[in-house]
Amino acid sequence: MSTKEYYTPKVVLAVGAHADDVDITCGGTLARWASEGADVYYLILTDSSCGSDDESISREQLTALREQEQRDAAALLGAKHVFFGHHTDGMLEVTQDVKRDVARIIRTVKPDTVVTMDPTVIYEADFGMINHTDHRAAGMATIDAFYPLARDRLSLPELLRDEGLAPHKTLHLLLTNFSEQNYYVDVSSTFERKIDAIMLHSSQFDNRAQMQDMLGERAAAWGAKVGARYAEGFMRIDSRF
Ligand SMILES: [Zn+2]
Repeated sequence: MSTKEYYTPKVVLAVGAHADDVDITCGGTLARWASEGADVYYLILTDSSCGSDDESISREQLTALREQEQRDAAALLGAKHVFFGHHTDGMLEVTQDVKRDVARIIRTVKPDTVVTMDPTVIYEADFGMINHTDHRAAGMATIDAFYPLARDRLSLPELLRDEGLAPHKTLHLLLTNFSEQNYYVDVSSTFERKIDAIMLHSSQFDNRAQMQDMLGERAAAWGAKVGARYAEGFMRIDSRF
């Protein structure tokens, strides 16, 4: 049971590697927050250009298609805008360039809450899943941008000098993680809409019932921990520094 109290952020930045990452990992929470008045922004760091076995589609076409799917899904969940980093899918690394890209958006939208994927997850044996290298890189770069790079005046000085982006301190970091959580958000009211949003990624998914089963089982297990029908689980860090 979490000892951390629920709150509605004022401004949220959710960072993923690929179109669909954010919707799958925390779409119910973002939809709830948006419905409660939060300004929700997405940052997708890669160009999502590898997620297809269709030989008739080029990487450029796939990027355009997946970015539009992501905009539509984010809009359905109530998000204000989706930023794209356009790093090459499958090749994302934890570099100064990627960290700067995240810090730039943090300094632009000034969130009180950043959500991203827990980079300490390399595999989930029980779930039969290896965590994608881009997910780990996105999570690590985002943590580094959250603290200290977006916060410190003397870090990435070019953001202030060349782009006028002043330092910004974000209060809450929520990491999505299948196996270890200290915080659960009741998403009973938005779970169906989350599934609807995921299915808007129609280049990736075509079986709604299967998606509902897979995510519903986990959301119900997390919900049981907090007396809700459905919940999403996070590692939540309330930054004191
Ligand atoms: Zn992904």
